[in-house]
Amino acid sequence: MTSTYDFIIVGGGTAGLVVANRLTENPKIQVLVFEAGKNHADDPRVKTPALYSTLFGTEAHWGFETSPQPNLENRKINISPGRALGGSSAVNAEVFVPPSKTIIDAWVRLGNLGWDWNIMKPYYAKMHSVQKVTPEMSERMGIGLGEGCECSGPIQTSYSPNYGGPVPQPWNKTFENAGYKMTGDPFHGSGSGAFQMLASIDPVTHERSYAVTAYYAPIAARKNLHVLTECTVENITFKKEGSDYEATGIQFIQDGQAITANASREVILAAGTLQSPKILELSGIGDSKLLNSLGIEVLVDNPHVGENLQDHIWCGIGFEAKDDIPTLDALKRQEPDAMAAAMAEYASTKTGPLASLGLSSFAYLPLLHTAGQATLKELLDGKIGQSSSSNHPASQDYYDIARSILEDNNDASIAMLSAATQIAGARDYSLGNVLGKFISIVLLLSNPLSRGSVHITSASVNDAPSIDPRYLSHALDLEIYARHMQYLEELVTTEPFASALIKPNGRMTSLKSCKDDLEAAKEHIRRNATSMWHPTSTCAMLPKDQGGVVDERLRVYGTKKLRIVDASVMPLIPRANIQSSVYAVAERAADLIKEDYWACYYGSN
Ligand SMILES: Cc1cc2nc3c(=O)[nH]c(=O)nc-3n(C[C@H](O)[C@H](O)[C@H](O)COP(=O)(O)OP(=O)(O)OC[C@H]3O[C@@H](n4cnc5c(N)ncnc54)[C@H](O)[C@@H]3O)c2cc1C
Repeated sequence: MTSTYDFIIVGGGTAGLVVANRLTENPKIQVLVFEAGKNHADDPRVKTPALYSTLFGTEAHWGFETSPQPNLENRKINISPGRALGGSSAVNAEVFVPPSKTIIDAWVRLGNLGWDWNIMKPYYAKMHSVQKVTPEMSERMGIGLGEGCECSGPIQTSYSPNYGGPVPQPWNKTFENAGYKMTGDPFHGSGSGAFQMLASIDPVTHERSYAVTAYYAPIAARKNLHVLTECTVENITFKKEGSDYEATGIQFIQDGQAITANASREVILAAGTLQSPKILELSGIGDSKLLNSLGIEVLVDNPHVGENLQDHIWCGIGFEAKDDIPTLDALKRQEPDAMAAAMAEYASTKTGPLASLGLSSFAYLPLLHTAGQATLKELLDGKIGQSSSSNHPASQDYYDIARSILEDNNDASIAMLSAATQIAGARDYSLGNVLGKFISIVLLLSNPLSRGSVHITSASVNDAPSIDPRYLSHALDLEIYARHMQYLEELVTTEPFASALIKPNGRMTSLKSCKDDLEAAKEHIRRNATSMWHPTSTCAMLPKDQGGVVDERLRVYGTKKLRIVDASVMPLIPRANIQSSVYAVAERAADLIKEDYWACYYGSN
């Protein structure tokens, strides 16, 4: 390691490795990446698609939990990001869905020029490739959307192998019969209705495709790319430049020694939603009251650092399956015979239940359809709709955006996923893994209005931050969520789902029926909802007077030569699983940085 690089990237995670790859396309540019975790690229639990949940509690995770959540029966919720080269992309559940045009366009409505759907769409195409669909797959799984995506990027995505088990075949037709015919094409940013989703699983190797395999391994030999794993950055170093602070490098600890590395062009913070604010605060950028209380010198007083935390919660219900339906319940219960058979099959042919994440059927649903115009209007216009989760300066804009989505039958307030097994979160926690076979349907609250925060609790980088997402603190969130939960029992009686999969008068994994009991639905959510590990927006890209931490070129307010590129900059959480958006934001960020160093990237020499 030399002591000066052009760019230093803090965090070799999902976004960090995209930026490292793109910036080192110019061999003259020296890039140094610091990653706190190890490279787990050879770990079978990382590579094998179905094993992501076995990584919790290992050194590949940070192990973070939220503070007790009052609206979730004071439970502490697992919100642990990945601590590994590749970051959370090394440990995530591989669900791969594009965002909606509405939400991305809302980023502009919130004050960020240059981030609309038309500009972002090519970056989604640039970051991933899609498996070629055979006519048989199309017929058996109802795949047919997403045509015309000129996707040719490094992240490899595929549909569930073996036609995704028993759920996909009746799935799309059931929603059509329920009145939810697909109204657009979710692969092109629009529509509500049912479809088969992609997973970030390579259809050739049948292994996880993530930031390491896609963006790092192919270029690891570049002489101008330097990646230090197991190196935790403590803080950013600055010098005063006029009224701003100019980032000069970072300080990290190695073998007990504090060492400084210098960046001649920029420091790029990519430590993720829960830790980029932490490094800013440890470096003197944040709420002066908090920093003063911890004895940290205040360089830039910005009370919005670490605020505006948004996340998706998920919860659902399992319905007992017909006896002849093959499900993954025995594997979920970790029955030795089932485990041994699955492992042997994956080891010999890379097929079987371990080759997929076990989820493939997806739907976006509006509330308007189920709750009706009158109920929705009552909710939105009444005290509940007007209540507030935070005094964030952009609260009214956030509410207006959510309202226009809720009032649109072609958009969605919920994302629905189904799996042929019981799932924690889709059953009451008191039940544990029960004997029998189940079809679970899980709901993800798409556009939460609740806002939380993440902040340091000491001046040491070694202490976990205090994470308080304040789930369901906006009253509208629970009202919407519970009404969708009530609908599940009706959905599973719809044909062909009912006759194909569900045991008549079979068991459910909720304690009570929610169908005609709104309070029971709310109680089920309070008892069982948990994080889907999609935290965003704690260093939001917004105008400064609207609660921003970075501007529309991702530069940190009050500083020079310091940018943030990760999920923390998203001003509004996408409507479902966010990894595609993290990659796309990072691809766009790399182009913005190259534009700002135009002569060096696009000049004649
Ligand atoms: C368990 C889990 C399941 C998920 N499932 C899905 C899914 O199925 N589909 C989906 O779309 N999304 C999913 N997500 C979300 C998605 O993976 C993340 O939103 C995305 O990967 C975040 O990317 P990032 O670059 O913002 O942060 P990360 O990828 O988390 O990268 C941050 C990196 O910074 C490093 N770092 C932090 N602090 C320091 C420091 N001080 N010094 C050096 N390095 C540091 C971290 O170790 C990490 O590698 C899941 C996430 C998790 C955790």
